[in-house]
This record gives sequence, structure tokens and C-alpha cells, in this order.
Amino acid sequence: MARIDLDHIRHAYGAKPTRESDYALKEVHHSWNDGGAYALLGPSGCGKTTLLNIISGLLHPSEGRILFNGKDVTNLSTQERNIAQVFQFPVIYDTMTVYDNLAFPLRNRHVPEAEVNRRVNEILDMTGLSDMARRRARGLTADQKQKISLGRGLVRNDVNAILFDEPLTVIDPHMKWVLRSQLKRLHRQFGFTMVYVTHDQTEALTFADKVVVMYDGQIVQIGTPAELFERPSHTFVGYFIGSPGMNFMEARVDGTSATVGSQSIALAYAPAVGGAQKIELGIRPEFVRLQREGLPVRIGKVEDIGRQRIVRAEFEGKPLAVVVPEGMDIPADPRVQFDTSAINIYADSWRVGSE
Ligand code: ATP
Repeated sequence: MARIDLDHIRHAYGAKPTRESDYALKEVHHSWNDGGAYALLGPSGCGKTTLLNIISGLLHPSEGRILFNGKDVTNLSTQERNIAQVFQFPVIYDTMTVYDNLAFPLRNRHVPEAEVNRRVNEILDMTGLSDMARRRARGLTADQKQKISLGRGLVRNDVNAILFDEPLTVIDPHMKWVLRSQLKRLHRQFGFTMVYVTHDQTEALTFADKVVVMYDGQIVQIGTPAELFERPSHTFVGYFIGSPGMNFMEARVDGTSATVGSQSIALAYAPAVGGAQKIELGIRPEFVRLQREGLPVRIGKVEDIGRQRIVRAEFEGKPLAVVVPEGMDIPADPRVQFDTSAINIYADSWRVGSE
């Protein structure tokens, strides 16, 4: 398995990029650890597939280099890079049996047949396809074919990395959950370097050690799921991760005191911004408390989401989402309190639709 270095990668699909907006990838410069499980997460069009294709060698970057374990592979083909890939739609041989499809990548590399048998059986077990090992792939459902595709990606253990591009899209929801946890288990067991593209945050947060959040052709933050949840480095990450996303409030600061509208909120530290400068306070709906004491708030819609409820409130004329436990009584004259240690402070002010 390999460490992957992305060295000042930029990519434009058009022949003569002139403006920054012509680049689908603007500047990606980072090292990914050997054996890490990385999820590339971001909205449609942010450049996830472009970056994955550059790592796999399907696409040559306009600028920059890719290194595997310190070796420059930028000009090597996909095959020469020795990686396994699993795409959104199954890539298998319809006329072969399930077993032979799984065995193919190993036989291709002249792995001894006893070892082929051992590894294929392991994958058959994992994907729940053991009963149909001798059936031809042609007659199988899309879901079953994708499991074969996934298995083909996992069957070899000598690859530099395994790259996944939204591989679970066509899998039914229950099986998705099962495969996701098996993938995580296999990753722990074999420690392969894994790069996994998804726009589904649950998928990214449940299995990745590191989530790479992308936006508009750039990596905005790489962090553990907990870091992204508790300390988003950018307002976009706060908005994109979480359901609902982070609340933002425009504020002016003076030392450790912030003013939102006509209300004052205590901060855990004095942010390093110029006197009375406008900033954004970010707080997760899970860290806002509705109770009898505190600052005035207006309650709007209440949405039940199983074990919790989302209260759509208004604070100083702006929307404020609050997550409360299912059984909690909302006081008749509710007030709001913010958990000081959970307040994040941002000098930028990205907004949905502001690009
Ligand atoms: P999705 O989740 O929708 O697959 P993504 O994050 O994977 O999106 P990319 O497919 O990498 O994003 O696309 C990044 C940008 O590059 C988009 O603006 C897209 O329109 C553009 N793009 C992608 N492929 C091509 C192509 N072959 N030719 C021209 N532009 C392209």
C-alpha cells in the first residue's frame, strides 16, 4: 500500500484555461497516509471524481504531480500504478461466473489457485454471494453485480490503493449498511490505502478515518469526523456536515463578548480580529439549549426525526435550528442558551448561493 502525495495539482478540462474558474481543480496539495481511509466528500461538481481520476491515472492533470511512496507516477498508466478501482456502476464480465469474475484479477497476476480459492471465498462470504458463485453474472440484479465489482476491487492485496467512486449508489439501503461496515472491517484488517468518493455524509463519516471536504475545486478541510463536526475550519464545512448544518450568526466582537442584534453572547476566548469587526459565530443545533432562562427566541416549526426533534426557531430575526431530545418539553416562554465552548468563530462569511 502507498502513501499518496498530491503535489500542487490543478486541472482544467478546456484546452486553454484563462480564468481561475476554468479550473475544475484549483489547487490540491496534500499527503495522504499509507493505510489511511479517506472519503472525498462535497457537493455535485466540486471536483471529487476529477481528483480520483487523476489519482488513478484515467486523467492527466494540467499541472502538478502525483507520487506513490515518493515515486512520481504522474505519467504512468492506471495499470502501471497498480491500483484497484470500483466505480458507481458495475464493471464485470457478464459471461463469466461470479466466482471467475472475482478470481480474474488474481489469475491475471498468476496467483496460485489455492490462494485464489481462499481469497475468492472470503470475498464471496463478505458480499453474501456464496450461493451464486457458480452462476453467470449476466442474470444477476444490478445490486448483485455491484457487489461483484466491489469484491473484484477488494480481492487483491498487493495494490497501492483502492479507489471507490460512489460504489454503493445502486445497492439497497440495508445491504449498503452491511457492506459499509464490512469494508471498514477489511480496511482495519488489511490496512489498505483507500480513497472513497461520496456525496453522502453518513457514508463518509461512518467509515473514513479522514474526511476530505471539497468545495469548488479545492480541499477546504481534512479531518476526522469529530473534528469536522466540532471544529469546522470553514463555514462551508459547518453548513455541509451535520443535519441540519451549523447555525451562523453575524456578530460584532469586543474582547470575549459578541453582539448579535441586540443580544450579547459570551465567548470562550477573544478572537484575533480588529476592534468591533464583523464576524460569524457558528454553533451546532445540538449545542443550543432551549430552557426557561436565557436570551429571547421565537419558536417556529418543530420537526420529528425519530429520537430527536429539530426546532426551527428565530433569534434576533434570523433562523436558528435547535436539536432537542424527543421527550423534552419545550417551555411555554422558551429562552435560548449557547454552549460557549461549542461556539466557533469565523472571519469569513460564506453563504449558501454566495459563490
Ligand atoms: P458529482 O458528485 O456530480 O460526480 P464531482 O464532485 O465528482 O461531482 P466532477 O465530476 O469532478 O465533480 O466535476 C468537477 C467539474 O468539472 C464540474 O464543473 C464538471 O462540470 C466539470 N467536468 C467534469 N468532467 C468534465 C469533462 N469531461 N469535460 C468538461 N468538464 C467536466
